[in-house]
Amino acid sequence: MTKEKTIPRILVLILAAFTVWTWFGIVAEVVSGRIGDTSIYFLDVGQGDSELIKLKPTGTRGEVNILIDGGRGGEILGELESVVDSNKYIDIVVLTHADIDHYGGIVEVINRYNVGLFVWNGQSIEDTSFMVLQSALKEQDVKTLKVQKGDSIKYLDYVIQVISPDTDILAKADKNESGVVLMFKGPRVSALFTGDVGFATEMVLLESGTPLKADVLKVGHHGSKNSSSPQFIAAVQPVIGAIGVGVNRYGHPAETVLDTLTRFGSQIYRTDINGTIKVVLEGNVPWTPKTVGGGLASIFTGSYKSYRGDIYTVSLSEAKAEWRASGIEALLNTKDGCALWRVDLNAASKNELMQIRHIGSARADALISARPFTSVEGIKGKVQGIGEARMRDIIDQDLACVSNK
Ligand SMILES: [Zn+2]
Repeated sequence: MTKEKTIPRILVLILAAFTVWTWFGIVAEVVSGRIGDTSIYFLDVGQGDSELIKLKPTGTRGEVNILIDGGRGGEILGELESVVDSNKYIDIVVLTHADIDHYGGIVEVINRYNVGLFVWNGQSIEDTSFMVLQSALKEQDVKTLKVQKGDSIKYLDYVIQVISPDTDILAKADKNESGVVLMFKGPRVSALFTGDVGFATEMVLLESGTPLKADVLKVGHHGSKNSSSPQFIAAVQPVIGAIGVGVNRYGHPAETVLDTLTRFGSQIYRTDINGTIKVVLEGNVPWTPKTVGGGLASIFTGSYKSYRGDIYTVSLSEAKAEWRASGIEALLNTKDGCALWRVDLNAASKNELMQIRHIGSARADALISARPFTSVEGIKGKVQGIGEARMRDIIDQDLACVSNK
């Protein structure tokens, strides 16, 4: 097989203000009887993020690989060896933002694989290792594309929409908050990739009315306590929440975030516990991991990690069935009383209470001992330090509630 035949060609269409990328060629060829493998991999790259969307719908030949972030260093190569076809082609590499735990491994990927396109938000940093990435892109002659809200990437029935940053967020130049946020949609499936964005961008997305409901969520910022607000998770309603996390000193993932996800009925998977996670999107296709010959990657990077031969595999359709059977969906949509995503002042745990503005550890304890309340305003005067102004903040946050049971 020649290289030209195995590398899907990319067609660029510039439509109005937005950029739409479309693939054509060998990947769209329909071959009857061919079993597909359309999956999302959350790659175990230690403390950092790296996800691979593999599109190989049943009945088509070839595959499209979209890598989002690359972790900190060479760990990614060992992980990719086991999941990307032997043609060493990655169609698109997306960098959410210029943090080393997201772009470091991309340097390795660019030197090792043929990469069709590098997608980012255009915000670089003054750092020698980031310059290494930029020169690798030049040396390997990789096309680059800056994206923002409104851009999208299409392939067959699949589309990846860039839903953040918008121009306002970009102008603030906060590295985490201005990261690229992607909504992936396909037949009967959606997945949201939020990079390291925190409450600020989550709020912008909520207020802009952007549809956020997604079956699979790449949990923001490695499960940081400053991301994944209950309102945001209530809007996403993820069946599966996957966290890219390793040994770290930041307290990732935060207990509050794990609590929130659990409260919404999400199945939680973590790369530090499960290793690389494969979420099978199309049917329940049995999958045999390839054996990886050692050595080759180490020539390029010196940091080859041998493939462990086990990938934690989750079937989205099974997870969805469990999620539906749990009745969580109905509870989420409760309008009166305390909908599940809210924090019930009469029943919430201390951790949950601490998600409410101005409620720290001491006030959470005070609140618990002053129960029950008949209204949210009832905590004013009963919990030390909660006066008029703070009470208004709490009401504005629209998180606390009192169940009418
Ligand atoms: Zn990060």
